[in-house]
Amino acid sequence: MKKMVIRRRKRNRYKRVLRAGLVIIALALLVLFAVLIFREKELPVVRVSVSDVEMREDESFPGAKVSATCDVDFGKVILDRKNKYTLEMFIDDINNGMGYVAEPNADFTKEGDYLISVDLNQELREKYEEKWYKKFNLVMQDGHLHVKSKHGDWDGKMFVLLDGSYAEGWHDIGDDTYYFGENNEYLVGEQVVDERTYYFGDDGKFDKEKNLYNPTKPVVALTFDDGPGAYTMELLEFLESNGAKATFFMLGSKVSKYPDEVKKMLEIGCELGNHSTNHLQLTKGSNGEVDSEIQKTHNAIKEITGQKASCIRPPYGSYNDKVKEIADKPLILWSLDTLDWEYRDVEKIKNEIRKTIKDGDVVLMHDIYDTTVQAIKEMIVELQEEGYQFLTVSELAEVRNVELSRGKVYNNFYKK
Ligand code: ZN
Repeated sequence: MKKMVIRRRKRNRYKRVLRAGLVIIALALLVLFAVLIFREKELPVVRVSVSDVEMREDESFPGAKVSATCDVDFGKVILDRKNKYTLEMFIDDINNGMGYVAEPNADFTKEGDYLISVDLNQELREKYEEKWYKKFNLVMQDGHLHVKSKHGDWDGKMFVLLDGSYAEGWHDIGDDTYYFGENNEYLVGEQVVDERTYYFGDDGKFDKEKNLYNPTKPVVALTFDDGPGAYTMELLEFLESNGAKATFFMLGSKVSKYPDEVKKMLEIGCELGNHSTNHLQLTKGSNGEVDSEIQKTHNAIKEITGQKASCIRPPYGSYNDKVKEIADKPLILWSLDTLDWEYRDVEKIKNEIRKTIKDGDVVLMHDIYDTTVQAIKEMIVELQEEGYQFLTVSELAEVRNVELSRGKVYNNFYKK
């Protein structure tokens, strides 16, 4: 009995040792597997990133600096056995400017922040997606492009110009206009500058809606003679919807035939001008004829609008001391003759305007021709894109600080 008990105990002890051994082996295998699985997941991470770039408007893009780094010591990871191409070589290639495309999606002529996206070139991208992804993880990091104003840099409410000095007075920055006053800070709200009142937003931006005109941009007076006519209403509607004004030197003999046109001129802020009654060359008329030619037109306009014309354009631009003496309003001639009455061709008229127009011009045209109306409609759009503003003759004189007086002759309102 006793012997058997001992033997059984011995056998139980062996079993226990064996079981413990198996458990230990199983655990060891488990750890081994875990390590293998873990190692499988922990591929080297290669980061390809674009550094941020700064440039000024209108400069050429200096190029993006792209660099590749790896988070672990990647040793000799072989990517392509045949060519003996290693991960180390791949990283070197990127750092030497090869194997990628890094391009900003930007307008280099406009201040702003843009993204510079980076990717492997097509060949490497295909290789990575076919095989290399098993050897390393690739992280692409886009960069930023900051296009700075070509004029300088903001410093709070002040603006530092490229030469390091602070902006003073009127300045166009980007698409906006500012006035930098005392302490070189931009003005806000309603302000008087050079004896004129201007309106600015809280951000210092010149208020395009509220102001009569922007002093940093060119301004001209469009003038139309010999009307009103069949195309005058079309022109007036176009002027109205495009925020442009003009001056109409009308013939007294035609005014009463187009009362709606004459009323509309006044309603949309255009100026009423006198071009005699029958297009008489005033230098050839008697004193009585000259006076009558002028006064009859004044009266015809007054009958419709309640007011006389505010300026006179003598037919053919011809005047002498007698005409100046009899004229009861300023005599307005012109500085740009479009020759529209001669050309009667939209493209030719446009070219004539395009090649010579400049700040302060008084432009001569005739609203009795279809071609003139078509040409000026197209030119207004084109010139507004260049910043041109269209005011009446009296407004143009006012913004140039010219006081118009009766019997005096004016050809242009160029800046002095
Ligand atoms: Zn005329």
